[in-house]
Amino acid sequence: MAVLELVNLSKRYRHPAVREISLTVESGDVLCLLGPSGCGKTTLLRLVAGLEKPDAGEVMFEGRSITHIPPHRRNFGLMFQDFALFPHKTVFDNVAFGLVMQNQSPERIKVRADRMLALVGLTDLAHRTVTDLSGGEKQRVALARSLAPQPKLLMLDEPLGALDRFLRERLLVDIRSILKRLGMTAIFVTHDQSEALAVSDRVAVMRNGRIVQADSPENLYNRPVGQWIARFLGFQNIVKGEQTPDGGIDTPLGLFYPSNRCKKMRSPACLILRPEGARLVDRHADRKGLAEIAGKVTTRLFNGQSYRVGVASKEGIDLVFDLPCAPSPPLVGQDIQLILMPSSMVMIEKGNE
Ligand code: ATP
Repeated sequence: MAVLELVNLSKRYRHPAVREISLTVESGDVLCLLGPSGCGKTTLLRLVAGLEKPDAGEVMFEGRSITHIPPHRRNFGLMFQDFALFPHKTVFDNVAFGLVMQNQSPERIKVRADRMLALVGLTDLAHRTVTDLSGGEKQRVALARSLAPQPKLLMLDEPLGALDRFLRERLLVDIRSILKRLGMTAIFVTHDQSEALAVSDRVAVMRNGRIVQADSPENLYNRPVGQWIARFLGFQNIVKGEQTPDGGIDTPLGLFYPSNRCKKMRSPACLILRPEGARLVDRHADRKGLAEIAGKVTTRLFNGQSYRVGVASKEGIDLVFDLPCAPSPPLVGQDIQLILMPSSMVMIEKGNE
């Protein structure tokens, strides 16, 4: 059931920041707003929170318009990158803050704050002052504090932006599992693609104030609806082509038959070659029907599980593939021939640049 519904929301400052956005969020889902800096993510979040008034459109919650309801009466929680904690108060007092503001009894405050501290794994630090905590611990306090008053919707604006990569990954797992355990409906803002795919049930990709694709993380990754999104998601091998009547795609690299070959595209097509889908040609193996690419190695980077190899194809197109460590990949300057797994080739509509 859709609990939050945005209907044709628009907001402009000097320029339009949010343009005619319509979007729904299902109860208990984590929706991620993903997009490059300045695309309107925070503005959209602030419109939902009631911190900004839309120029047009409606914000509906549980079937009623809340467009004109002030932020403090929406009962939504907010969590920011910069923690926004009270530095000299204890962890417990920070977590209890919202409950005190709700005039709850000291007994209820104690029970609820203790529960939240246990949920984020900070019971042992309840009496420390916040200044004595690490960044990751502070962010857990911020999460516990925003969850304590039992908000109907939690909004997280780049909550992990200030943390290092290792901590981000750990907290991301924790945040998702905590939100799921509570069945909390949440909106998570980030410009980090892998963070968005990992944390959400649905991702809305924004560009220039509009949503260009709202989809499950799997669909977004497997079927980006245009080359801009594909590039934004980090795909580097995107080749323009023409769809052929038999479902193939004719590109400067040759004619390919990707895994999603049946679908008729509405616009000119592009072919994505996933970096992990190439193997060095084994001269003894049966290669009949497999797509091949020939070229010269331009770069070779060891990244732990594989080598990221830059290849200048013989047609003059720069491509990138992740080749397994064994057998050892070729050296820079070497001529190579690769076969491409059909499942690693995806045809998409070209869409906007
Ligand atoms: P970032 O990832 O960098 O935080 P964002 O996607 O959250 O970016 P917004 O902060 O929503 O983007 O900004 C969208 C546009 O609106 C930008 O061009 C920004 O400069 C402009 N903008 C945002 N807030 C204001 C404001 N209070 N006054 C004027 N312009 C604003």
